[in-house]
Amino acid sequence: MAYSDNFPLVEVPGAEGVTHIFCRSPGGGGDGWCHLVPGKDRALLIDTGFGIGDLKKLVSELTDLPVTVVNTHNHGDHIGGNPQFEEVYIHKEDAPFLYRAMEGPERKAPPESEREYKYSDADLVQPAPYKVVEIEDGYVFDLGGGYEVEVFHLPGHSAGGIGLLDKKRGFLFSGDALVWTPILIHWPIPDERYNEFLTVERFRDGLLRLEEHKNEVKRIYPGHSRLGLKNTLITDMRLCCEELLAGDLSVREFLPGAAGPLHIHGDAKIAFHESRIHTK
Ligand SMILES: [Zn+2]
Repeated sequence: MAYSDNFPLVEVPGAEGVTHIFCRSPGGGGDGWCHLVPGKDRALLIDTGFGIGDLKKLVSELTDLPVTVVNTHNHGDHIGGNPQFEEVYIHKEDAPFLYRAMEGPERKAPPESEREYKYSDADLVQPAPYKVVEIEDGYVFDLGGGYEVEVFHLPGHSAGGIGLLDKKRGFLFSGDALVWTPILIHWPIPDERYNEFLTVERFRDGLLRLEEHKNEVKRIYPGHSRLGLKNTLITDMRLCCEELLAGDLSVREFLPGAAGPLHIHGDAKIAFHESRIHTK
């Protein structure tokens, strides 16, 4: 499949048997990535994209292994294809959002003239129930053959955001927590219960544990934009958080099209809001 074929999902072969699946945005946000990570006995599918196109079929063409599905966080550009699968793992703080998403509403494609690319109502994965398995920081997916993938809780962008470290390959799949584009910790909060997790302080705390494993990380594969980032981003991001926490709210850029002043340290960029720095 080629980009010009206008498919919503395009597989991109990565290093060491990993496949990255490019998920084209229907608009209103950036294109995203899912990642298919094979072990010896199982494969791990990290995120399910926008729910446009038959991800399950594509994955079955890419591996003969049974597939475990995990979401890096609950946002719609990462969970859209979940109803195609019987069971999905997610951090326990983000699980309630999956139950809500299962209930609807029914999805409909916008008028053809407003679509970013060619797809129809039939290509949309509709809300449906599936089993949710709640996991926590430190959980390990055992894919067989020494392929173990450890969960790191990285709240801030989402209450239950996680990174997934494939220890054998040294690949960190970082969702929207470590990205080349800015991490957004500035969105309005719809649900009071999750306020405590959506701060720079909580993000920093998660990064501190990840930083202890920094030398195990050879490359970082985020949920959007550039792939194969260097592990120095982990420390840049932690220091970016520390500066905000110390009261340095200096802004070098504004995020175009969104209400986000950016604090920058090295390669790390945080779109922040003053109310979302410290955990009360
Ligand atoms: Zn995203």
